Amino acid sequence: MKRKWIVALLTTAMLLGCTGTEPKQDAVPSAEAAGDNTGTEIKVESVIPTEKIEGSSLFVKKVEDLPDGFIMGMDASSVISEEQSGVKYYNFAGEEQDVFKTLAENGITHIRVRVWNNPYDANGNGYGGGNNDVEKAVEIGTRATKYGMKLIVDFHYSDFWADPGKQMVPLAWKDMTVPEKADALYAFTRDALIQMKDAGVAVGMVQLGNETNSALCGEHHFENIAKLMKAGGKAVREVYPDALIAVHLANPERTDAYDGFAMKLDAFKVEYDVLASSYYPYWHGTLENLSNVLNGIAEKYGKKVMVMETSYAYTGVDTDFSGNTISDESANIVKDYPFTVQAQANHVRNVIDTVAHVKNGIGVVYWEGTWITVGTNSWEENHEKWEKYGSGWASSYGGSYDPDDAGRYYGGSAVDNQAMFDETGHPLESLRVWNLVRYGNEVETHADAIRDTVLSFDLKGTIELPETVDAVLTSNELLKVPVKWNVTDQDIEQMYAGGVGTYEITGEAEGLPARLTVSMINFNFLQNFGFEDGVPEPWQIEDRGGADQLYVEDKITDSLNGTYHMHFWSAAKESVDFSLFQTVKDLPAGTYQFTISIMGGDAGDTEIYCYALVDGVEIGRTPMRITSYGNWDTQTVRDIAVQEGQTVTVGIYVKCSGAGSGAWGKIDDALLNSQS
Ligand code: CA
Repeated sequence: MKRKWIVALLTTAMLLGCTGTEPKQDAVPSAEAAGDNTGTEIKVESVIPTEKIEGSSLFVKKVEDLPDGFIMGMDASSVISEEQSGVKYYNFAGEEQDVFKTLAENGITHIRVRVWNNPYDANGNGYGGGNNDVEKAVEIGTRATKYGMKLIVDFHYSDFWADPGKQMVPLAWKDMTVPEKADALYAFTRDALIQMKDAGVAVGMVQLGNETNSALCGEHHFENIAKLMKAGGKAVREVYPDALIAVHLANPERTDAYDGFAMKLDAFKVEYDVLASSYYPYWHGTLENLSNVLNGIAEKYGKKVMVMETSYAYTGVDTDFSGNTISDESANIVKDYPFTVQAQANHVRNVIDTVAHVKNGIGVVYWEGTWITVGTNSWEENHEKWEKYGSGWASSYGGSYDPDDAGRYYGGSAVDNQAMFDETGHPLESLRVWNLVRYGNEVETHADAIRDTVLSFDLKGTIELPETVDAVLTSNELLKVPVKWNVTDQDIEQMYAGGVGTYEITGEAEGLPARLTVSMINFNFLQNFGFEDGVPEPWQIEDRGGADQLYVEDKITDSLNGTYHMHFWSAAKESVDFSLFQTVKDLPAGTYQFTISIMGGDAGDTEIYCYALVDGVEIGRTPMRITSYGNWDTQTVRDIAVQEGQTVTVGIYVKCSGAGSGAWGKIDDALLNSQS
């Protein structure tokens, strides 16, 4: 250990004086002082399980070929402020126990902690989010180390939250030039890490900023970001030479962003070991995409890769009287799992499985599994604690530093329903996933939740509610199960009579709540009606003239709706002469209308019309025309009377005499509706 310190000292000495932007030695305590500390030695009580935890009801499919030493991380930044607010944490036996011990007992190997430079206003009031300064990080690190876990230090290099949307400079550094800021950042990092080292904290990894996609510490130019990161990295290498240095980004769904960032890090020679990503399934694309993005970084830049933040809701219910980012109302958010304890574990298992099979994939960290409500009685009671101990995401005092966000929306936790402890501090069964992924625990499956059903019915048609729904099993597989809907004949009458509208129906299946959304619409009986399948089928084409181009085109600017349409073009005169049609069987008896749109030009004399046949006999046609780009002509064939068992064919006929530059056109959005 001592020898490494001498090497670090020499390296520092060599780097000093190289450029004006390098940190100056007199700005910080000497490395000698740091290295020679006799430091506290923490007595480690290793409780991280080396065997399978038996007896869990949690279904866990084993992650095959999980590397030894794979990081199972938990961000526990809020724990101290939670405890100050009166929160108690329990173990699976129901006994009150240090939450860090409980985490370690269930397979967590690393604790992540965010560090803000100075999250306090001039009067000493904390901004919230745990009021996480260096002192808090040392305390959390000490407790993590005690139970055999390593610390991941997440320097935000800000006085409060830093993310892709904001990277505010610490107040004390706001008037600094970039070289001064680099010096200050180096000194701050070094001093913080020395405090951890003095306390005996086992630091495994250090982040140079949090989700630094667009900026760091108020700097937006990459050259400056690189200077700051180098200064931070230098301090890490000096104080904790064995710790990994991580650069942390968000938004892996923007597929080229990480590669662009890694390329710049290389170009500016920023030394780092790990490219870490946030991965929230609601916003950050598929696991397949995540895998591709991380693999790409590992292959191209030879870096280690990991997921530094992920989470999933175990309930849609808010528990702390302060609204959550994800809830039952988050209907516009794509989600792959229901909001259950089992699904939360399935999510974690699948993220681990993904990262474990990526080249150089080293771990997954959860955010933040211990951040639960500080009380279950009232908003007022919780608010008092959030203000006093900083246990909400932001206190009102945060507004003095961050008026636009904290100043307006301060409050409790927005992720209490994504914790791995319930609102009373007892661990959820999902916490066992960190251990069970190593061994598997394929207990008998059962229905865990019922998938929402969404149906559309024609206003003129018949409403038939489904007799089965999709149950999501504990294994995350789907199974059709019988359902009973809470609906009366009167409700159905209202749906027929109410015109276009949407109705929510509840029900029960396998003893679980089921939901059905019924939209009463002017149903379109055509398939691939706007060509969005990217192919013509089931449309048929009869090309009499032999057009040069006649195909489904993917061009949003030339589509009436969506991104696809049917395109035609031909150079020779008379060669545009085709029919495009679709045949529909099993229509309910009734009267229908057919509508279609066309635009185009350079067509000379044209014969264009939409038409309808019933059992092969034409019963109506409506003339159409093309004029110039962007001028869509929409026409309708009405009064298409259909008896039960008859077949209807609807289509468009296009014939152009041609002109110098060739006739062209676009066809889109065909509708076969009940006629009102
Ligand atoms: Ca909440």
